[in-house]
Amino acid sequence: MATTDLGALQASAQQALEHVTSLEDLKEWRVTYLGRKSEITAALRELGTLSEDERRTRAPEIQQVKQQLEEAAEQASVRVLQQQEADLATSERIDITLPGLVGERGTLHPVTQMVHEISEVLERMGFSQIEGPHMETDWRNFEGLNFTPGHPARDMQDTFHLDSGRLLRTHCTSVTMGHAIEKVEPPFKVFTVGNTYRRDDDATHTPMFHQFDAQVLAKDINLSQFKGTIQEAMRAILQRDDVEIRFRQSYFPFTEPSVEVDVTCTICLGTEGPCKVCKGTRWLEMGGAGMTHPNVLRNFGVDPNEWQGFAWGFGVERPYMIKHGIPDIRPFWENDLRWLTQF
Ligand SMILES: [Zn+2]
Repeated sequence: MATTDLGALQASAQQALEHVTSLEDLKEWRVTYLGRKSEITAALRELGTLSEDERRTRAPEIQQVKQQLEEAAEQASVRVLQQQEADLATSERIDITLPGLVGERGTLHPVTQMVHEISEVLERMGFSQIEGPHMETDWRNFEGLNFTPGHPARDMQDTFHLDSGRLLRTHCTSVTMGHAIEKVEPPFKVFTVGNTYRRDDDATHTPMFHQFDAQVLAKDINLSQFKGTIQEAMRAILQRDDVEIRFRQSYFPFTEPSVEVDVTCTICLGTEGPCKVCKGTRWLEMGGAGMTHPNVLRNFGVDPNEWQGFAWGFGVERPYMIKHGIPDIRPFWENDLRWLTQF
């Protein structure tokens, strides 16, 4: 006589299945209702105790219930998986109406911008860029450039001397004259942009500053080509219509004749009272320039009777100040982002 009530079993299994919400639940359900210790397995075992007639009707009933339970479990598994996907779609839904997150974009440092602009202008004018060391020999920084030992002009460039006997270059002329003449066959047009070091520190000077130096070395060069080249370069770099460029007679050991190149002070434009940047002169110095001294050419193995050169060494920060009307050089190096990101 069969003891398992198949109808009740099926009803309770179906009811339990409705509470299944995960694959773990479903696994447990299978153990309970279809596993080795389940009622349906017990019912199948009971078949052996039944008479053949009873078995013949009972066995298909049990098999039918078992098959229905398996099919129901299969449907439940599809339902659980669909629900999981739906939950995931809800939890990971992207709300396109929310404001976006905008990352902060960096900008190039003003000096880097100026270095790029200067390099672009000079390359467009046919100059090739060269590089040289910051730590330099006395020969390339001074003596080869016609600053003989004890020359008073050395005092104008208050120098950082190193224990090795070398020094931190006080100008980039060590590259455009010394290294260039040693390494490049004339005729050439070269420039370099880089750091230079002097023991200066005030509103318009810092101990480390940047210079761009250039030299043209060729045959039959004259002063008007020299002035024309500098004017063209500075106009292209400054991109201002309201500035004038002026050449003022000066003295440097490595050039003859030598000039200082001045540009209109864009801080006051000569209109206001005392200007602390140009100190009322209405002009700002760009730097020195001139025809390369024959002694320099000779020092680096070039015959001055055959070749002539002209050269200049200008600051990088200064044209930036002039271009944008910035009165003080020091904020360039104070790393204040509020200041730096204006440019
Ligand atoms: Zn001024």
